[in-house]
Amino acid sequence: MAEVTREIILQALGNVSKAKGGQDVVSLGMISGVVVRDGNVGFAVEVEASEGAASEPLRQACEAAVEVLPGVLSVTAVLTAERPAQRGDAPSGQAAPAQSPAPQPALPDNQAIPGIGAILAVASGKGGVGKSTTAVNLAVAMASDGARVGLLDCDVYGPSIPRLMNLSGKPSTVGDSKLMPMENYNVKCMSMGFLVEEDTPMIWRGPMVMSALEQMLKDVQWGELDILVCDLPPGTGDAQLTMAQRVPLTGAVVVSTPQDIALLDVRRGIAMFEKVDVPVFGIIENMSYFLCPHCGERSEIFAHGGARETAAKLGVTFLGEIPLDGDIRATSDAGQPIVLAQPQSPHTAAYRGIAQRVLDFCRTAQDGGERQAPNIVMM
Ligand code: ADP
Repeated sequence: MAEVTREIILQALGNVSKAKGGQDVVSLGMISGVVVRDGNVGFAVEVEASEGAASEPLRQACEAAVEVLPGVLSVTAVLTAERPAQRGDAPSGQAAPAQSPAPQPALPDNQAIPGIGAILAVASGKGGVGKSTTAVNLAVAMASDGARVGLLDCDVYGPSIPRLMNLSGKPSTVGDSKLMPMENYNVKCMSMGFLVEEDTPMIWRGPMVMSALEQMLKDVQWGELDILVCDLPPGTGDAQLTMAQRVPLTGAVVVSTPQDIALLDVRRGIAMFEKVDVPVFGIIENMSYFLCPHCGERSEIFAHGGARETAAKLGVTFLGEIPLDGDIRATSDAGQPIVLAQPQSPHTAAYRGIAQRVLDFCRTAQDGGERQAPNIVMM
């Protein structure tokens, strides 16, 4: 089957114009968050808020342009209305580049979210490195140490938090039409997985990707939280970058496996946050070494040890390492994070140590928040 790439999609969208004979939507910088998964394509069409409803034909035209491409199985284009009026259009003939986005608004009024102390992004340069597993175990470790913790699944295309936190059902609504977060293991959770069916993750068209994220942050009755852990979608594309910009993050951690730690992915992850002035608290090396369950012997199955070096080279902290372990996988996939399932295990100790370090970083960032305000993007 023909491979569908972001470039091919943008090329096709380059034939769609906002007005007859006018500039195309790519040149106008209206396309963002292009995601391709196994032939399923999603992207956002950014329009002015006032043009929301009138832009439906344009949205459909964008979908139609991509639908016909060989290898495309489904297309979901969503309208995002946050495009600020003052934002300049991309120069003619140039797509809005993923690496150098125009500043975008986050939450209205530059406000942090009332009641939420710190917001932490858990990111990775690519999928499958154990980012969600790490986010869940860190959140649960923090909660079991007495912190008031929320967990926000920012991966609207492939939400995994409901499964990892053993939560199902739909969140209830409270009086002022706010959603109540679902809760397990003393962690309050919100995920698109609670709002759409698991098997059809990309069917929601009306709600807009970024608005959905904003709603999950603001229209959820989080209550008082010491920390909200945000499980970002894997990768460092437009969608992640926009999230890093729009959520008033206190800081971020980047999860990597040892094979990838020295690779471009991690550097990209760190660069992404630096670009939007979000402090990177450090790197977590996952599936770092193998601890024999029988004799306790530690084997370095991959080239190990480079993580510290890479972290130092990149000027970020090495937060710690988590072993590759069948129990971590089994407990995680069964929705019973190892931090609770095996509280005395060395794996749990590793997660707890990292959780503590991250909380310390958050406190320091918050203490210095007034002085370092420019470091925390709150647009
Ligand atoms: P990501 O969020 O990066 O896509 P996941 O957290 O979904 O990755 O993990 C991918 C798979 O790897 C899951 O099956 C998970 O249980 C497993 N996994 C994650 N961390 C570990 C680990 N330290 N040891 C063994 N398996 C792990």
